[in-house]
Amino acid sequence: MFFNFKISKSFLAVIFLFLFSVLSCMAYTSAAPTSTKADTSAKSISLPVIMYHSLLKDERLQGDYVISPELFSSDVRYLKDNGYKIISTQELLDYCEGKLDLPDKCVMLTFDDGYYNNYLYAYQTAKEENIKFVLSPIAINTNIQTKAEHLSPSYSHCTWAQLKEMAQSGHVEIMSHSYDMHQNSARKGTQIMPNEHLEKYKSVLSADLTKAQERFKEELGITPIGFTYPFGAVCDEARQVIKEMGFKLSFSCEEKTNTIEAGNPNCLYDIGRYLRNGTDSSKVFFEKILTDKKQTATA
Ligand SMILES: [Zn+2]
Repeated sequence: MFFNFKISKSFLAVIFLFLFSVLSCMAYTSAAPTSTKADTSAKSISLPVIMYHSLLKDERLQGDYVISPELFSSDVRYLKDNGYKIISTQELLDYCEGKLDLPDKCVMLTFDDGYYNNYLYAYQTAKEENIKFVLSPIAINTNIQTKAEHLSPSYSHCTWAQLKEMAQSGHVEIMSHSYDMHQNSARKGTQIMPNEHLEKYKSVLSADLTKAQERFKEELGITPIGFTYPFGAVCDEARQVIKEMGFKLSFSCEEKTNTIEAGNPNCLYDIGRYLRNGTDSSKVFFEKILTDKKQTATA
């Protein structure tokens, strides 16, 4: 009798454990799809990125690639007044890696070529308005400017000291724009040339980009996480090198709003940008692009 009682007790325990594990499993499997679905469906944002070049006060010089410093400040205030968060590439990366949430209304501001007038005007605005912008200098021009005797807002590039001050301020993120491939001649920027041998092309491009990364590290103590294609000239061969070299994101010049998906780091390559012209008011320019329906996942 005692023996039987022991058996039935063990038997009951086994049954209980079995039922418990089956029920737990059912609870897990029924809950799992719901939570996965909720995560993926909720996590994406539309991101317009703006592309600036020079800021100059002289109206006669303003046009497609030169706008007034006041217009840049006006853009920043317009975006703030309309509830937009001006985000950095690091925030974008953190969002994609699931480390950070971002609001629906985000925008990014970028400056190409590293002109001295960016240091004079855009950097001042960034400090006053407490915002960040992305700056993509051409490393060889920074080298040359650092050795030059004169600085002109109209045509000079930033020196290494100016880039370092901006990078260390926390208001400016430095991206690569190549060491010395910002030319539109036989080769357009970093694009492969017709009939160019693939392996030779890859070694030319990776040597140039490596040299730029080394200079940034030596002079600024940082390794840029992104690459901005000169003239927006992208090609599959360059995309491959950019990824292999460890760049986490890249900027093109295609005018579109980007769909950025959390958990999809591939959507950070070929980020499209809108060229900021010197003629539209902030209201006219942003009403046009913030309602642009051309949205494409950049993957
Ligand atoms: Zn450029």
